[in-house]
Amino acid sequence: MSEEETLILESVDQFLERDVRPHVRALEAADEYPQAIADRMAEMGLFGATISAEYGGLGLSAQTYSKIVERVSAVWMSVSGIFNSHLIMCAAVERFGSDEMKATYLPKFASGEMRGGIALTEPDCGTDLQAVRTKAELDGNVYVVDGAKMWCTNAVKGNVLAVLAKTDMEADGPRHKGMSLLLVEKEMGYKASKLKKLGYRGVDTGEVQFDKVRVPVANLIGAEEGKGLNQILAGLELGRINVAARGVGVARACLEESVAYAQTRKTFGKPIAEHQTIQIKLADMATKVEAARLLTEQAAAAYDRGERCDMEAGMAKLAATEAALENATEAMRIHGAYGYSPEYNIERYYRDAPLLCIGEGTNELQRLIIAKQLVERNPV
Ligand SMILES: Cc1cc2nc3c(=O)[nH]c(=O)nc-3n(C[C@H](O)[C@H](O)[C@H](O)COP(=O)(O)OP(=O)(O)OC[C@H]3O[C@@H](n4cnc5c(N)ncnc54)[C@H](O)[C@@H]3O)c2cc1C
Repeated sequence: MSEEETLILESVDQFLERDVRPHVRALEAADEYPQAIADRMAEMGLFGATISAEYGGLGLSAQTYSKIVERVSAVWMSVSGIFNSHLIMCAAVERFGSDEMKATYLPKFASGEMRGGIALTEPDCGTDLQAVRTKAELDGNVYVVDGAKMWCTNAVKGNVLAVLAKTDMEADGPRHKGMSLLLVEKEMGYKASKLKKLGYRGVDTGEVQFDKVRVPVANLIGAEEGKGLNQILAGLELGRINVAARGVGVARACLEESVAYAQTRKTFGKPIAEHQTIQIKLADMATKVEAARLLTEQAAAAYDRGERCDMEAGMAKLAATEAALENATEAMRIHGAYGYSPEYNIERYYRDAPLLCIGEGTNELQRLIIAKQLVERNPV
């Protein structure tokens, strides 16, 4: 690790121990947005973690960023949601936006003055994004946006979204030809309301209504219409690396708390860590954490080298998020009844982990991506 990376990770650790860990249980139970934590994250520059320094960001590599995400998620996964989907939106703007768009928005995104996320999913489609029905019709120098989005993280507390919409309803196949990405500010008129969730509490995930929302043409991301799906898919490589890092964090937290608990809880006259069945669980959990972290590091390194890494990011996402889910289940078994109590963190990991297998492309979809790439990269 470079000196700079060491310093950043130390300050993230201090922030987590001082400003996050003591408050997690109360905020989680109340499903309350952690405003003070978000404000502290803005002071630390985390809303600009991967934005270039020329726009006021920290310009961190995907490798450093994924280490931050692992640390944050091992304490409270919800906190990672506040800046992760924001940074996917930022990546789309920095990679594809005009110079004017970048100069207008990126400094505000980096400071946290404007915070947001991505609005892709709709009531009738998630995996099959080409089926989106939200439309953006040109009327002079504005797009008129109509439609509904679902499950948009940061939609309620944030004030801007990258919205995937159809700009050409008549586009001949493939269907993505008529799709574009628009940067829409809340004050332009969309309405967001909070959805209830099993886990991932505190951070808001919302339903969003667009009722003839007028968006300046300048807010189209990219120079021309019809590139929206490819733009967002490119951003999802980083998104998948960060979900993998979340998985490593949750899987590690399950392991560490189980290793500690197994040494203090006694049955039949000895700590349960001395029963072979528990030892096998701990060994499997630890192996999954290490394997997941290595895959995540490998995908982040490929991303930083500018290589195509959809297969690597897909493998990391698949392995790390399944590790989180499996470790949460094993941690629950190791903790017995106490795993089922809100007095311990295990029940929270058990509720948080399944989301990782769904978000940023389900794990079923990751397998399809991996298999397709395997064939493409190994022609006979
Ligand atoms: C807490 C939370 C936060 C979220 N945040 C955001 C956000 O910020 N922005 C956003 O746009 N979305 C967000 N989402 C939505 C998420 O990205 C979608 O839920 C996800 O993409 C899956 O879509 P779906 O739920 O519509 O499932 P569907 O697409 O309906 O899939 C249902 C099932 O069918 C499987 N399936 C679908 N197609 C295939 C296929 N071809 N082959 C094999 N299996 C298939 C899926 O894997 C899944 O098991 C969030 C969701 C949650 C729960």
